[in-house]
Amino acid sequence: MRNIILIAPPAAGKGTQAKLIEKKYNIPQISTGDLLRNAINKDDDFAKNLKSSMESGHFVSDDIVLKFVIERINQEDCSNGYILDGFPRTLEQAKKYNQYLIENNKAVGIAIQINVDKEITKSRILNRMSCSKCGRVYNLSDDKLKPKNDGVCDYCGTKLVRRSDDNSETYDIRYKEYIENTEPILDYYQKNNNLYTINGNQDTNDIYNDIVSIIDNIESSNQ
Ligand code: AMP
Repeated sequence: MRNIILIAPPAAGKGTQAKLIEKKYNIPQISTGDLLRNAINKDDDFAKNLKSSMESGHFVSDDIVLKFVIERINQEDCSNGYILDGFPRTLEQAKKYNQYLIENNKAVGIAIQINVDKEITKSRILNRMSCSKCGRVYNLSDDKLKPKNDGVCDYCGTKLVRRSDDNSETYDIRYKEYIENTEPILDYYQKNNNLYTINGNQDTNDIYNDIVSIIDNIESSNQ
């Protein structure tokens, strides 16, 4: 079972890498940001509160996110594994998720940290566009990550949109949330001996190759 967690600051390329790993190993990407964005389209108080947390750049409560994740990993297409993109983001989430896996005899998996400088991620976020239908992410300042046709998704032809939280002020809040709440989970995975760190300042292909070598090396040493 391949069960992979990607940990990185916002706009470090987690979504792009998750899509590439999804294709290579045939396991689904689970983006908690996407799961939550799908849930805010309803017209009830729950959706409105969710939307306002997300638009402010602050985290949604641990219990809400955990509920979405547990529901999702129990779906049939996750039976051979999955890639978590954007979860866990707090120590509480990591601990509760681990406890859930152990209690349900599921593999604990590995965590891969993509380490990127803040200036790089901030410049990426201001040029980021994403597909409102399939969630694929594009970057207008990088020739390799630009859409082939201006403004539409290469895969499904849907119009690309800029996320409402992709602006300079909200980015600073999201980055601060990452440093204060997400970085502590690196220690937690390190202590459990399942943390791998790669250099995220490289280009997309090199990051991808590093991730694939980590996964393949672990699997060949387990055989
Ligand atoms: P993302 O698409 O991963 O950048 O997530 C967008 C927003 O969704 C974040 O800024 C948070 O408000 C919320 N979110 C996504 N994943 C989580 C999580 N694991 N814990 C708390 N909030 C989350």
